[in-house]
Formats: sequence, C-alpha cells, structure tokens
Amino acid sequence: MEVFEQHESVVRGYCRSFPVLFDTADGSYLNSADGTRYLDFFCGAGTLNYGHNDPDMVEACIDYLRRGGLLHSLDLYSQSKAQFLRAFHARILAPRQFDHKIQFTGPTGTNSIEAAIKLARKVTGRHAIACFTGGYHGMSLGALAITANPAKKQSMGVQVPGVIRLPYDGVHLQDVATQLQMLEDMFCRPGYGNDLPAAFVLEAIQGEGGINCASDEWLQGVAALARKVGALLIVDDIQAGNGRSGPFFSFESSAIVPDIICLSKSLSGLGLPFAVTLLRPQYDIWSPAEHNGTFRGNNLAMLTATVALEKFWQNDDLTQAVHAKGQQLRQQLQEGLSGLPIGAHIRGRGLMLGIAFDDDSFAKRLSAALFERHMVAETCGPASQVLKCMPALTMDTRDLLEGGERIIQVAHALSR
Ligand SMILES: *Cc1c(COP(=O)(O)O)cnc(C)c1O
Repeated sequence: MEVFEQHESVVRGYCRSFPVLFDTADGSYLNSADGTRYLDFFCGAGTLNYGHNDPDMVEACIDYLRRGGLLHSLDLYSQSKAQFLRAFHARILAPRQFDHKIQFTGPTGTNSIEAAIKLARKVTGRHAIACFTGGYHGMSLGALAITANPAKKQSMGVQVPGVIRLPYDGVHLQDVATQLQMLEDMFCRPGYGNDLPAAFVLEAIQGEGGINCASDEWLQGVAALARKVGALLIVDDIQAGNGRSGPFFSFESSAIVPDIICLSKSLSGLGLPFAVTLLRPQYDIWSPAEHNGTFRGNNLAMLTATVALEKFWQNDDLTQAVHAKGQQLRQQLQEGLSGLPIGAHIRGRGLMLGIAFDDDSFAKRLSAALFERHMVAETCGPASQVLKCMPALTMDTRDLLEGGERIIQVAHALSR
C-alpha cells in the first residue's frame, strides 16, 4: 500500500474504507491480489448493476479490439454509436413511448447533469435551479452547487447563486398534499420572493442522500408544479436507473415523463465511463457543437451498453427478478435484524436498499466489520448513517442470501 500513500493524493476515499489491493473481479466478487474473494454489495455505487466483467460484454470488447474497431472518434458517426442509438431506442425509449433525443456528454454523471442544467437555462432564459435536500448530482461546479452534502461543497471556492433548495419528500412529516402545497407556495404565492426556476432537479430515489424514495404522488406533484411554473423537470437517474430499483428508470411507477433524464453509472454495463442526457425533442435547441467535449460517446462503452440492452432489456425478466430478489433480501434483513438491541429500518426499492440504525455511528462500524468478513458494503446519508445494500441485479440467490446473512450476523456481533 506504500505506493498509494507515497504518490497518490490524499483526496482518495473509498480505498480508505476498503484498504486491500484488488486485482480481478467476476460477477458479484472482487478479488484481492492475494486471492481473497470479497462479496460485492456496493457495485461501484451502482455502476455494476450486471455484475463485474459480464462475459458477453468482455467478449464483445475483445472482438472489437481484435478487428481494429474505432476507439476514439470525438462525436463522429461510428458503427458502435449507430448500434447503441438503435438499441436504446428499441429497448428503452420506444416501449415507454418516450420521444427523447439522446445527447452524448462527457463520460461521467456530472457531465450529464451539467448539460441538463445548462440546457434548461437556455430553454427557459431563467437562471435559478430548484433542487432538493439530500440530493447528490456530482462534483463539477454546476452539479456541486445543487448537491446538498456540505462536506463535498466546502471546497467549492466560489459562490454559485440561483440555487433554490427545497425539502425532499418526507423530510417534513406532513402528508404529501401538504408538502406539495408548500412547494407550490414557494413559487406561486406573492411574498416568497423566489425566482421562477429554469428546472427542478431530483432523484426519484436518493442514493448518496441515504436511500430516500419519493412517493409516486409527490413525483407527480413536482412534475405538475414544474409544468405550472414553466420549468423543466430533470430526473437524475444516474444511480437509481438502469434497473437498480426494478424498472429501467426509477420513476416509472409514477408515470411521469421527465423533460430531461440523466444517465451514467451502469449505462455501459461493464463499468466503463459513459453518460447521456435524454431530452424531449422540443427542448433539443442546442446549436451544433455548443456543448462539446473530447470524450463523448466512448465507442467501447457504446458497444458494451448495446450488449447490455440486448441481453437484459428485451423483456421484463430482469425487472421481475429485481423485484423478487429485493423482496427476498428485504424480508431476510427485516426478520434477521428485528432482534437487534438498536432499531434497524429498511428502506428503498428493488435492489437499492438501505438500512438505517437508531445509532447514527452503527452503519459505519458495520461496513468496516463486514469488510473484515470479506464483504463490501458502503454507507450513505449525510451522517453516513445508512448501510447501502446494492448487490448486482444478476446476483444468484445463494450469494444474495449469504450476503444478507453476513450483514445480520455481523450486526448482532457488533451490537453485543
Ligand atoms: C454518481 C452520481 C452522480 C455523479 O456521477 P459521476 O460519474 O461521479 O460524475 C450524479 N448523480 C447521482 C445520483 C449519482 O449517484
């Protein structure tokens, strides 16, 4: 580990929670250089929904490289882009009757967010962006400005005006109708003094914020409010999308149709950097090359994304499997943790589950103790008070139950 301490910036983070040297990975396992297998309940924060190194995606990459497939091409027309566009339309957009255009942004989630808020400002001619408590949208300046976490924002260095922070569903304990009325008052009642926003930006399930789910009614209300005040609705589905909660998009049960949808993390399927911003066609008003970038539409990632779409999204088998596995894990955890001396509260949807404990420091200690038992599970929430359970959607039942059992046993051992 000396090489990292000696040469890598102190900004490194996850490696401090999981300090071993990793070398290979397969399916639901990360393998350290000394051959220890770690069961992965984190999946790169939702980047590995189909597990590590899916053999069909790896094979496609090897073939592509062997035949001299184009790797870097700016945003030139490429065979892999054509195939991705066709597959994404056929497997994801058309079945949902979505008519969104696909914008390739720089390769990480935050790039997709920047494009979204920039376009919303251009469309509306407004500056303010309405965002929510607990929201996490990335580390570049615009995305960071609308992110809630103060520890991440302390080094922002400049002030970014025009951010209106609103309470997320459930933060104030009123019923949904009262919460929605409060939100509407903020913009529609005289005397509140808020600028009308260019957009409302939200996660339908907050990942970093602590696995908080918005109700369908609340999402519908925010969508209606956005329409009423002439703002765009941007859903950041970077972590919760790609089937993590069951359906491809996390907001599908609400039947809302966001004006802009941000996707990244699991989109490539293989963990390669790749992001897109989906735009309703009437808002696709960019001038050519107005939002540019050297690494947009990484060809290898478009290739593996296409394999993922054809392999997992031809029917709703994966969605059904995620519902069933999520139910199974939730029930196992609920029963197994019910006897703990401290309260454990399970939240989330599909295989995007979180466990909040009555003692805020417990999740952090649990994550560390699980790592000693060769399991990777991270924490989330503003005080790292929630243990995240995000196994691969493709994890087999035996590994899933094994992971659940380890969490239960270690939690009991720790709380004794
Ligand atoms: C990870 C994440 C981002 C940022 O993506 P990066 O690839 O890290 O830039 C934005 N929004 C959500 C919800 C995320 O989980």
